[in-house]
Amino acid sequence: MDRFAVISDIHGNLHALEAVLGEVDRLGHTEVVCLGDIVGYGPFPHKCVDLTIRCCSIIVRGNHEEAVINADREMEFNGPAREAIMWTRGVLGPLHLDALGRLAETAHPNDSVLCIHDSPAAGSMDYVHDAYAASEAFPAFAEPICLVGHTHVPVVFEALRLGDQDAGPMAPAEIVVHQAEPGVPVPLCPDRRYICNPGSVGQPRDADPRASFAVLDMNDRTFTVHRTAYDIDAAQLATRQAGLPTVLADRLAIGA
Ligand code: ZN
Repeated sequence: MDRFAVISDIHGNLHALEAVLGEVDRLGHTEVVCLGDIVGYGPFPHKCVDLTIRCCSIIVRGNHEEAVINADREMEFNGPAREAIMWTRGVLGPLHLDALGRLAETAHPNDSVLCIHDSPAAGSMDYVHDAYAASEAFPAFAEPICLVGHTHVPVVFEALRLGDQDAGPMAPAEIVVHQAEPGVPVPLCPDRRYICNPGSVGQPRDADPRASFAVLDMNDRTFTVHRTAYDIDAAQLATRQAGLPTVLADRLAIGA
């Protein structure tokens, strides 16, 4: 796979997922990689699991999938998130729970790219959200590019040296942070390494409420974030009607 769409953190938001897959189709992409958190927070876990399995060539497991299939992990979540995990576990049947349990933790769409939901740092549930966290994550993988989700914020971290495990720790000053503006390709140089985050389909947290995804093009060597408008009112109404915590509906309108 040399050119494919990257989606992550759908969180049961079917309205956002359908809008994103429509846009992926319109852009002419046939392959989609999903970085996990298909469920949690939103009211349509079944349909989002079904649609993701149908449309994605690769899916890795997120921490919300972990918590839905393993109740011991629930305590890692705050009030509304934990409530949504319990609600999701209650509405998913054995077929869907089994499908989530079979998702791999990591995947390789090609030799140059590692996919993982949260961070390549071993055993971590950490958020790669700034240059400091990125400086700890880069030595933990060998591939030129690592695709992560989990923070719900689109961004590209660029390491100024190859920095494999033998080269010792990396300093935050050795990381360039690209804010990944929508529609503006971030060039990926062959002599640098990258951690790329497509943002969140179903619950963006960068103050832009539009659904976020990205396209990785290994031929052009670019990572391009895209934003897609969707019916936020309908997603909020469905969230409230499902009886999920109202804060999970409210935040969709402000991208927080
Ligand atoms: Zn998430």
